[in-house]
Amino acid sequence: MNLPEKNTPVFNRLRFVLVETSRSGNIGAVARAMKTMGFSDLVLVNPRFADAREDPEAVAFASGAQDVLDGARIVSDIGQALEGCNFAAAVSARLREFSPPVWTPRSFAGHVHAHGDLRAAIVFGNERFGLPNQIVEQCNVLINIPANPAYSSLNLAQAAQVLAYESRMAAEPDAAPAGPVGFHGDAASLAQIDGMYAHLEQALVAIDFLDADNPKKLMPRLKRLFARTQLETEEVNILRGIANHILKAARR
Ligand code: SAH
Repeated sequence: MNLPEKNTPVFNRLRFVLVETSRSGNIGAVARAMKTMGFSDLVLVNPRFADAREDPEAVAFASGAQDVLDGARIVSDIGQALEGCNFAAAVSARLREFSPPVWTPRSFAGHVHAHGDLRAAIVFGNERFGLPNQIVEQCNVLINIPANPAYSSLNLAQAAQVLAYESRMAAEPDAAPAGPVGFHGDAASLAQIDGMYAHLEQALVAIDFLDADNPKKLMPRLKRLFARTQLETEEVNILRGIANHILKAARR
């Protein structure tokens, strides 16, 4: 068995295995869940429909993850699905009397990220019946997604999304969002901000809000307030404009 080279990113050594999936739509949705988080190794063990990859429902749910769906391998037993892996996790909503240690998705993701020599499989069960005990007992751990005790059974693809997301977050905890979020102007310089504070102080003195002889902690407090906001140049200019008008009004 070829073990992964050290420092192989988790994206290249985590396999998603779906056992006896009934609905082709779920297979497509799992492909999508995987691709959005950067994973691509998908293995189907005896799907109910042998041509699940071409099923229109699968194609529709895969959306832009058609490549992951097309690349899915179909095998006839769990042994083939786990070939090449040295770590397997059964993903199950049900806790059992005889079970490997129970982990959360987060602890699993942290473990696999930290151990670069693991080629891991996460094994999901059928929509109605879950995973057979025999498969669970073959796995190193059982991953349970903590959920509402009154209804803890997630949709298959949504369970896969949780695992894919946690695995990505463990590898890239500080990653920026995929694109720019909202509008950002230029960050104001320290000199601009200093000038704005002086201007504001003048204005507050002019309307007797600030007593120049007994300023207490007003300016330090205002500075701390603004320091939390990551001021932009345009915002500094607006604040100076306000200070200007206060000064003009106070002189009348
Ligand atoms: N009635 C089935 C639930 C199947 S849901 C059962 O009792 O197991 C289909 C698959 O989604 C499950 O086999 C499991 O792999 C995953 N899943 C759903 N909810 C989960 C949860 N809370 N924790 C872990 N896996 C879950």
